[in-house]
Amino acid sequence: MRLLQKLTPRRELRERSAMTKPKRNSTRDRRICFDAHKTTNSSGRTVLVCHVCGGEIDIVRGEEWEADHIARHAEGGESTPQNLWPAHVGCHLEKSKVDNREVKKGVRIAEKATGVRRSARPMMGSKRSGWKKKMDGSVVRRWR
Ligand SMILES: [Zn+2]
Repeated sequence: MRLLQKLTPRRELRERSAMTKPKRNSTRDRRICFDAHKTTNSSGRTVLVCHVCGGEIDIVRGEEWEADHIARHAEGGESTPQNLWPAHVGCHLEKSKVDNREVKKGVRIAEKATGVRRSARPMMGSKRSGWKKKMDGSVVRRWR
């Protein structure tokens, strides 16, 4: 029974962390993004402008780019033309790293607040610590 109680929240955690993982930029998202944000540069070529660094993304030359969700995908941001903006692969990676860190911190805080996650370092002498002090002053293991 104890084992079961311990495993359930962990599995929940794993499923949640899978949800916050960056998903591969889909062709559909990129198409929506391209149709909404394509422009022509001074030499008349169709380009995209990276919304992170402001630099041009030359598609004709085959420069790699991704569609970035402004409202985080992990937090329910939708794949709409208003929410998808082009970004260089490198720029997007940097932004995603920061975003994922913040999303994960939010999940951690929420878990702590709702009691899903228990402290890894329980208070000394509490029942969760696994130790108890007997009336004669000796300290013994509670279980095992
Ligand atoms: Zn860029």
